[in-house]
Amino acid sequence: MTVLVTGGAGYIGSHMVQALVEAGESVVVIDNLSTGFSAYLPEGVPLFIGDAADENLVEGVIAAHGVESIIHFAGSVVVPDSMRDPLAYYRNNTMTTRSLLNVAVKCGVNRFIFSSTAAVYGNPDQVPVPEHAATRPMSPYGSSKLMTEIMLHDAASAHGMSYVVLRYFNVAGADPLARIGLATVGATHLLKIAVEAATGQRAKIDVFGTDYPTPDGSCIRDFIHVADLAQAHRAALSYLRDGGPSTTLNCGYGRGYSVLETIEAVRRVSGRNFAVQYAARRSGDIMTMVADTSRIRSTLDWAPRYDDLETIAAHALAWEEKLFRERHGEPRHAASA
Ligand code: UDP
Repeated sequence: MTVLVTGGAGYIGSHMVQALVEAGESVVVIDNLSTGFSAYLPEGVPLFIGDAADENLVEGVIAAHGVESIIHFAGSVVVPDSMRDPLAYYRNNTMTTRSLLNVAVKCGVNRFIFSSTAAVYGNPDQVPVPEHAATRPMSPYGSSKLMTEIMLHDAASAHGMSYVVLRYFNVAGADPLARIGLATVGATHLLKIAVEAATGQRAKIDVFGTDYPTPDGSCIRDFIHVADLAQAHRAALSYLRDGGPSTTLNCGYGRGYSVLETIEAVRRVSGRNFAVQYAARRSGDIMTMVADTSRIRSTLDWAPRYDDLETIAAHALAWEEKLFRERHGEPRHAASA
């Protein structure tokens, strides 16, 4: 009864592995360490360094470890990169999943959980966005994930596999005990940038667009704590083990916070009044992205524990401070509030 986690050394994958190990599950990881860190895996979890597209490797791991379910995180996630190099995204996301599914079918692994994204919706007609909303991705990243969803659906129907597709909204925060978190250098995510500013690693944060027709003029996002997201995957695994039919679920809290509110939350929890600069809109940004969460709440036995922006900000900050100390010594704090 082993669970194979691809991309298990990455940001979300490592929280998943932690959650599975804490729940007493047997776990094995495949990660090519292109963005992940082996040090973030709990002791004793077998790591195979390689590509989830390597069918021989995957087949060997499935056979050697008695894998019964796959949770597939491995892939590329940076929207602007996908604009510059779309074929890399179709290879790393769509084609890799095709190879992985091919092996899963061959080896009779019939439970599959897939990391998808709210980017499959593009600019939504209605907010909160339900799962049945039109899918009109605006980037190769979103398209590569949507193509994978379609492929997974077809393969599952043909081969008796059950799946859960989880469409992530804005994943943020870190392990509440600060053991793991987002460690990618050059990350572009709002909360990561804000905690880098709060720890003095950036002189300021730019707010991309303050002229949107929203209450304070900045974009609105639905942040989900990475630990709650990992628990949603665990709940999805239980759902499939109990015989639940294949489904697609939004992963968010169903509540939106503006970019300015998010930055204020980081200023409050850090007590550091770092500089905020109003800047032009970032091209490709969607104004408001908030999940309709009725389906995930009625389908899975999932009770989020960290549905609170300040808690998410505090955990992201604690992790960032630890990371900074590990890499550079004591943090150079920005001006105190
Ligand atoms: N954002 C910002 N300044 C930054 C980084 C992000 O104003 O330094 C804004 C961005 O324009 C978007 C929101 O924060 O409106 C969330 O962006 P992020 O890249 O975190 O996630 P996305 O929603 O694009 O996947």
